[in-house]
Amino acid sequence: LGDLVRNVGGDRVEVENLVGPNGDVHVYSPTPGDARKLAAANVVFVNGLGLEGWMTRLVVASNAKAPVVVVSKGITPRRMEEEEKSGRRIAIDPHAWQSVADAKSYVANIRDGLIAVDPAGKATYGANADAYLVKLDELENEVRVAIASIPADRRKIITTHDAFGYFGAAYGMAFIAPEGVSTEAEPSAKDVARIIIQIKKQKIPAVFLENTSDPRLMDQIAHETGASIGGTLYSDALSEPGGPAATYIEMMRHNIRQFTKALVG
Ligand code: ZN
Repeated sequence: LGDLVRNVGGDRVEVENLVGPNGDVHVYSPTPGDARKLAAANVVFVNGLGLEGWMTRLVVASNAKAPVVVVSKGITPRRMEEEEKSGRRIAIDPHAWQSVADAKSYVANIRDGLIAVDPAGKATYGANADAYLVKLDELENEVRVAIASIPADRRKIITTHDAFGYFGAAYGMAFIAPEGVSTEAEPSAKDVARIIIQIKKQKIPAVFLENTSDPRLMDQIAHETGASIGGTLYSDALSEPGGPAATYIEMMRHNIRQFTKALVG
């Protein structure tokens, strides 16, 4: 989100991220420094869709006066039925940025949010957004070409948590995860057993690690099923600067390279 805001804001904005590289935004614990950053901000951008549950409390606690822009406004949320100890419930999937089309909506909302607090920058924000949207169109083409290169019966992937639902729906790939759309709850032994049976039955070729998740669970599942480890995906956070996924566009390119490397065969 910080990278998208930087692309639209350009030189007119100074961007501070609360959750840094490889951080887990689902279970982040805000610091007193974060509250000070919020109190000093002119505008606050959040993903919404329940991703940053801690953010609402932090905005209140920090006495932030800045408008809070929900960048996922206008996208169609993906609803998932999840099983919990207390029964089944409908969870909203927050990971809309994994669909480039939805990321384009984020960019439009960011542009409008910046113009609202800095009307003098309207032309700059508009031009920056337009230039970046062209890059996102090119990126989406690359994603489609990459997925088309994978045989249809091999477009099946296991990830630690359910972060790729929007990607799967947009580009035609099945993702299965032992954890739900958040990383808050550890998967039960029953969840893991169910995934192992599913991998064997559906002959799912590869399981993937995520930069924000503990690799041990996927190591265990790979070991018990004979599926290969397809590499590390960047799901909810970018890499360090200079790493393989330092920007949104690099993240998407990195992930499709991992998919094709593991699945084209
Ligand atoms: Zn996530």
